[in-house]
Amino acid sequence: MEPIFLKPVFKQMIWGGNRLGTDFGYEIPGDDTGECWAISAHPNGDCQVKNGVYAGMSLSELWNDHRELFGNTEGDRFPLLIKLIDARADLSIQVHPNDAYAKEHENGSLGKTECWYIVDCDADAEIVIGHHAKTHEEVKEMIENKRWNEFIRVIPIKKGDFFQINPGCLHAIKGGTLILETQQNSDITYRVYDYDRLSNGKPRELHVEKSIDVIEAPFVPYQVSATKETGAGYERQNLITCDFYSVDKLELHGTVAFTQDKPFLNVSILEGDGTIDGIAIRKGDHFILPAEYGEYTLSGNMMVITSSL
Ligand code: ZN
Repeated sequence: MEPIFLKPVFKQMIWGGNRLGTDFGYEIPGDDTGECWAISAHPNGDCQVKNGVYAGMSLSELWNDHRELFGNTEGDRFPLLIKLIDARADLSIQVHPNDAYAKEHENGSLGKTECWYIVDCDADAEIVIGHHAKTHEEVKEMIENKRWNEFIRVIPIKKGDFFQINPGCLHAIKGGTLILETQQNSDITYRVYDYDRLSNGKPRELHVEKSIDVIEAPFVPYQVSATKETGAGYERQNLITCDFYSVDKLELHGTVAFTQDKPFLNVSILEGDGTIDGIAIRKGDHFILPAEYGEYTLSGNMMVITSSL
């Protein structure tokens, strides 16, 4: 059994930059490359397998035809989506619905829970997470009266910070930020506010009513557990375990054997280089360790983010 390496899909965005090329060494389509869909079976960016017996197949085909690789997990779609995002400019401020709201209002689509690991950012970078309204009534009033400065919660960030973004949580990346996003495989986003910017002479579409419906109040910040598992040559920290995914950060300095005992494990190398079971890997590689992969050995100096169900 081999790790399943995937070929990323790139997305050009008005707010995108060039760091996925300069920092990660990808061949990007332009200097406005905002997103690298690294592990994705979404129809808007379905990653191809790079190696082994499944080379050339898309992740969605693998999910449909070889469910045993994913521990026979049930579901009509590969449940997660892993992206790198390079924001040169501020993104619009958004909120996602939960599964129940999306099912009713978005043709049976899934809602979206996501989380962000700050891979790198400018020294003075900030992020939008949550709001300052105390009640749902106040959310509505502040949005309708455009009291954005009082409403929106903006906080400073640094490399290594982590944010869980549950449905109903207002959020936006600001310019100068590079993140790894782990999310439910869904695209349903409501745009609340776009800093009154114009795109081709017009403001972009907002979804104010649906946003007001789904924004939760008051906002409660997520605290990452400080507990780390340490062993010879590694340190591993669980960043989040929620209903949709579990995300870990692994820092490796040496050679360490681990066991893959999940239905499948998504692996993203974010710093350094080394090997997995003798296969060379480096920053920017993304792969899946399938079900029953069993014991695997990582070697090198690397920082890795993994996710599983
Ligand atoms: Zn989002």
